Amino acid sequence: MATPIGNLKDITYRAIEVLKAVDVIAAEDTRVTAKLLNHYGITSKKLVSLHQHNEQRAAPHVIGHLAARRSVALASDAGTPAFSDPGARLVAAVREAGYPVVPIPGPNAAAAALSASGLAGPQFLFYGFLPAKSGERRSTIQEIALLPYQLLFYEAPHRVLETISDLNVGLGGARQIVIARELTKLFETIHTCRLDEAEGWLKADANRQKGEFVLIIEGASRGDDAQRVDAERVLTLLLEDLPVKQAAALAARITGARKNELYARALQLKRDA
Ligand code: SAM
Repeated sequence: MATPIGNLKDITYRAIEVLKAVDVIAAEDTRVTAKLLNHYGITSKKLVSLHQHNEQRAAPHVIGHLAARRSVALASDAGTPAFSDPGARLVAAVREAGYPVVPIPGPNAAAAALSASGLAGPQFLFYGFLPAKSGERRSTIQEIALLPYQLLFYEAPHRVLETISDLNVGLGGARQIVIARELTKLFETIHTCRLDEAEGWLKADANRQKGEFVLIIEGASRGDDAQRVDAERVLTLLLEDLPVKQAAALAARITGARKNELYARALQLKRDA
């Protein structure tokens, strides 16, 4: 079942009814769920722990409860379970064992951010978290750079600056980014700017780097596609024989792409080589 992503009032009537009615609640963090239950005066519930590291092991216990005709609800710390959260393996095991799984829809950070972003493209790709290691993150960004869909990412505060810097280099600075931070909470902020302005905006006030983030970036345009594929190919070839600065300058002259973006990308390619 979906639970709030910050503001405890963001929970459906049905979710409250289910929390009151079930025999057992499988919770990602029992303390977080206990706080929610407390807020709604729901007392003496059996809570069992089900998180990323014990999901496989915990599934048979949950199925044991179901076999004993006890109803079980699944709650993650925030938002919708199995959405960049544990839950999918449990759901698969429960369904495999022949029990029905009933979704209780509600809050989700990506949907909340998208709905307030003002970005109008009909298609989007929800990526979730990019890899934590910079080399893997950069190559992942390259893989999705040319998709003509808005790109949605989740990011943690301690990585948001480096991720935005990599997105700027990998996608080009001209695209719009919506930085949706602390949604439904006291310091909720939704800021739109060009990708090459985003790092500066975050650095201008340390508070802007705090909290939880959804990043939404405009998809590639058709023109972008052709130029970026070309620029990447030309740059990679030139780097085989020329130093970074010269390769970037020449690739910019050949393809019409921006020299400083190619320079940053050339540095990345050299580092990752
Ligand atoms: N299951 C959740 C959902 O349905 O959105 C997502 C869980 S994921 C482990 C946590 C990430 O979601 C955070 O690092 C952040 O990127 C995003 N997130 C969660 N709550 C948020 C909020 N209030 N504002 C912005 N982003 C949020």
